[in-house]
Amino acid sequence: MDFAVSEKMETILAMVNSFMDSDVIPLEGEFLHGQPETVDQLVHAAQDKVRQMELWAPNHPIEFGGLGLTMLEHGLLSEALGRSPLGHLIFGVQAPDAGNIEILHAHATEEQRERFLRPLVAGEIRSCFSMTEPEMPGSNPTMMGTMAVKDGSDYIINGQKWFTSSADGADFAIVMAVTNPDAPPHQRASMIMVPTATEGFNLVRNVSVMGDPGSGHASHAEIIYQSCRVPQSNLLGAEGAGFAIAQERLGPGRIHHCMRWLGIASRSFDLMCERANARVVAPDGDTLADRQVIQNWVAELDAEIRGARLQTLHAAWVIDQQGAKAARDEISAIKFSVANTMLKAVDTAIQVHGALGVTDDTILSWWYRHERAARIYDGADEVHKTSLGRRILRRYANPA
Ligand SMILES: Cc1cc2nc3c(=O)[nH]c(=O)nc-3n(C[C@H](O)[C@H](O)[C@H](O)COP(=O)(O)OP(=O)(O)OC[C@H]3O[C@@H](n4cnc5c(N)ncnc54)[C@H](O)[C@@H]3O)c2cc1C
Repeated sequence: MDFAVSEKMETILAMVNSFMDSDVIPLEGEFLHGQPETVDQLVHAAQDKVRQMELWAPNHPIEFGGLGLTMLEHGLLSEALGRSPLGHLIFGVQAPDAGNIEILHAHATEEQRERFLRPLVAGEIRSCFSMTEPEMPGSNPTMMGTMAVKDGSDYIINGQKWFTSSADGADFAIVMAVTNPDAPPHQRASMIMVPTATEGFNLVRNVSVMGDPGSGHASHAEIIYQSCRVPQSNLLGAEGAGFAIAQERLGPGRIHHCMRWLGIASRSFDLMCERANARVVAPDGDTLADRQVIQNWVAELDAEIRGARLQTLHAAWVIDQQGAKAARDEISAIKFSVANTMLKAVDTAIQVHGALGVTDDTILSWWYRHERAARIYDGADEVHKTSLGRRILRRYANPA
């Protein structure tokens, strides 16, 4: 194992961390309490500065203006950006665009690249990924109600989706729909690009999550596709290849999420330690940091975050060395364990802050509400545990 990074990457990480402290974290007050339009303007201004520093969309291939980072390097960057909810958006590497860009890069035709990929990488447009349905189990997406039926040179799409993150204001959706209902379960669905301006693309509502319907990039839409007609040339990859492409999107995507969560965990840890040192809790000047229970929490969390970080970097390293398929066990393990470490870090930091922790005067309560979903999306804890446990036990039953 070798997690060493190049000197160039060290410099990039130092620049990113410094910009996060000077220009991104200070926007959180406006993000928590300001008007969405004002936040948008501030985000655009910060994005311009990132472009001037030539750090825009660093994870993309070099021919698209990115830095051509390895999975390990991108993971380290994602950790730095994860220290604020605005980090990924300001650097042009936010979900779901980052994952959509990866699959477009791998499967789009020349024409699709010009229409969808190039402006997406440049940050001129946003996109969304529309797979999950309210009436079907997202944990088993072979059960899918949305249909795309051929009509002349078009597809006509009908169905209902929800939790299509960032659909509000997006230029196009990548929609998973059944095109081959008689094929084996994993070959029934295809991915189709649907511009959101298409007649029949109906954004019904931004679903309220933990008391907040959100808006723009920070929202999760319910969408009804009603006789929504798009040309068959909008098909991404082969017909029936939807699940195979979705799998490609999920492996590396989980490294990005886990490293982003580690950014959240480490910022929560920083806030917790700063508060523990500052909060005087006795007339003799003792602070929370003088209390043994707080020292234990700090030590335990430090050990847990270090372990989660090494585990995630190791999974990224296996992907870099052998590809995502060889890293299946590592990816399943980090998906549930790092999500839980991050949630524990946020929860413990809130506890140390006392009443202040549940106010919106710090970023902790926003994370507490919005990151609970980490245990559900991209495969719920139970799904990853079941598949990892099953694979391990099979190896014991059939030793090589
Ligand atoms: C914040 C957020 C953002 C999202 N963004 C997107 C997006 O951009 N695009 C998109 O298409 N989808 C998105 N999703 C949807 C997400 O992918 C699904 O919620 C997820 O796949 C789970 O599906 P479900 O909600 O239908 O739960 P279900 O499949 O109904 O599962 C419910 C629960 O049952 C348990 N369970 C399920 N299967 C098993 C099993 N095999 N063994 C044991 N227990 C099991 C788990 O505890 C699970 O949490 C998002 C979800 C959230 C919360």
